Amino acid sequence: MSKRILYWLQNDLRIDDNPILSELATEQCALDIVFVINPHWFKNNNYQQKPYGVHKQQFLIQSLYELQQALIERGQTLHVLEGEPVSVLKQRIAEQHIDEVVCSELVGTYEQRQLARLKAHCPHAIFKTTQQDTLFQQSDLPFDLDELPKSFTPFRKAMNIPITTSTLPKGLLPQPITLCAANPIELNKHTNNNNAVMHGGLKSAQTHLKQYFSGLLPSTYKITRNELDGFNNTTKFSSWLAFGCVSARQVYKAVEAYEHNQITNESTYWIKFELLWREYFKWHALKAGKSLFSFKGQKQTKPLTTFMPNRFAAWCNGSTPYPLVNAIMNELNATGYISNRSRQIAASCLVNELGLDWRYGAAYFEQQLIDYDVAANWGNWQYIAGVGVDPRGGRHFNIEKQTLQFDSHAFYTNKWQGNENTSKQLDTLNEVDWPI
Ligand SMILES: Cc1cc2nc3c(=O)[nH]c(=O)nc-3n(C[C@H](O)[C@H](O)[C@H](O)COP(=O)(O)OP(=O)(O)OC[C@H]3O[C@@H](n4cnc5c(N)ncnc54)[C@H](O)[C@@H]3O)c2cc1C
Repeated sequence: MSKRILYWLQNDLRIDDNPILSELATEQCALDIVFVINPHWFKNNNYQQKPYGVHKQQFLIQSLYELQQALIERGQTLHVLEGEPVSVLKQRIAEQHIDEVVCSELVGTYEQRQLARLKAHCPHAIFKTTQQDTLFQQSDLPFDLDELPKSFTPFRKAMNIPITTSTLPKGLLPQPITLCAANPIELNKHTNNNNAVMHGGLKSAQTHLKQYFSGLLPSTYKITRNELDGFNNTTKFSSWLAFGCVSARQVYKAVEAYEHNQITNESTYWIKFELLWREYFKWHALKAGKSLFSFKGQKQTKPLTTFMPNRFAAWCNGSTPYPLVNAIMNELNATGYISNRSRQIAASCLVNELGLDWRYGAAYFEQQLIDYDVAANWGNWQYIAGVGVDPRGGRHFNIEKQTLQFDSHAFYTNKWQGNENTSKQLDTLNEVDWPI
């Protein structure tokens, strides 16, 4: 009897450049491909935010749908199950007599703990994990993880290593295991968020990859990347990268091909530079472990903050005294995406002007951003709050200056109604000047 393998999909919702699938294609085995939707994603966490807001939910469903179609074309079935992942998978492994579990190795602490718990619950199954969310394997790094540079620049300088992608061999994947145990979720192609700027899924990602690298945009990236608004000003790969609809290696390779066939300049270099930032934050997250989520982060002392729920609520719903920040939050709430510059301004405002605990901001971004990525989000928030890998110890963006520089005609602020709910002062005071 051939081996029975379960492939637990997580943020690797693609067929191309998926080393796990390439390896499986060479195996004599029966294959069960499973994705688990965790109900906790839709419930309030410690910060009273839901890890999966509506925009991210929609992108996930679209991505699963496109992957399901692609797998059906290859004679496979994607089983989408619902429940606490360790319990669901433990039951599945037992019911399907699974010999081996294969999955992506993720850098987040909670994801790592989850995998460790699953292994402990299923001592008879063999577990094989592969790093397929990064440009490099941990073994490629020119230093031990403990020696990861404390800031980005020395990391970038050390990472002059060629990048390779894998291709799925021609032919079908192994025999699918067709018996379906738990109740699979029916995926519906039609989702109804009209504000969506991007459509989830591997096909959509490949279409965007082709379109983005077919014109002049990569050659002007460095000039346009700091704009607040405009789909073409940056690459917009982040959401597809977050769900693994495309790999970072595929995007990196596409830049190299563009440089080879079209033009090599500062802009094309800068796209690779940003992909290396992503890479740095990934390894940093793995090294930092749970301190990525702790208030004092990588530092010895805690930042000075108070918690004022009214200020946090005003920030979230775009009614602070700062029209530009309000516009940014309105865009985020409406679309699930904001530019890097907008993220920096909004995060700096929460930390510096509002004096709030940065983790609440990070948790709100986690809920709202389609492209939420544990390493990039919490790493960038720590950076701005001055408890992360910023050698300058935090960033304070002057909102007035940013407005003059990036929105001098108020096009962006007006487009996203930044003046509509602007409050005159930070706090509402009672008769003895005490904030309510
Ligand atoms: C407070 C804050 C929170 C953030 N949260 C996230 C997040 O949850 N997920 C996320 O992918 N990015 C996050 N970023 C980084 C960055 O803002 C986004 O990656 C970028 O805006 C996505 O748009 P793009 O794909 O057009 O990026 P481009 O400018 O086209 O960059 C190309 C790719 O490089 C990577 N990249 C670019 N800038 C960064 C960066 N500063 N850190 C890490 N990777 C980067 C992304 O993968 C991006 O797709 C955050 C930044 C800040 C300041």
